Amino acid sequence: MTDMPALPKTDAEWREKLDQQQFAVLRQHATERPGTSPLNDEERSGRYLCAGCGQELFGADTKYHSGSGWPSFWAPVAGAVETTTDRSLFMVRTEVHCARCGGHLGHVFEDGPKPTGLRYCINGVALAFAADD
Ligand code: FE
Repeated sequence: MTDMPALPKTDAEWREKLDQQQFAVLRQHATERPGTSPLNDEERSGRYLCAGCGQELFGADTKYHSGSGWPSFWAPVAGAVETTTDRSLFMVRTEVHCARCGGHLGHVFEDGPKPTGLRYCINGVALAFAADD
């Protein structure tokens, strides 16, 4: 967690740092189309970082194939994400965002596998994968 670059402050600064899709998801709560992320099929060991700020969010050891069309994990790295209640689209869902930069990542549902029973349903464009080695 040392040497993390300073966070952008304004939308204009975020737009400079992120591509259009990343900006839409991380800063505007968009959802990528299911089945489109190459990370759905990623099975190597490694770490999933926030595409906005580089903070480590999920370990590959908690990733699983949920069949949802989005990268799915059963637990985040301790302290890496926070949640809020999302009442958009006529549903009540629990939104997941990066604890460091506030970037929107996805949602968490209670239909995941053991040991937590949780399914962190995360937009692939919000993640950067760092493979081990
Ligand atoms: Fe972040």
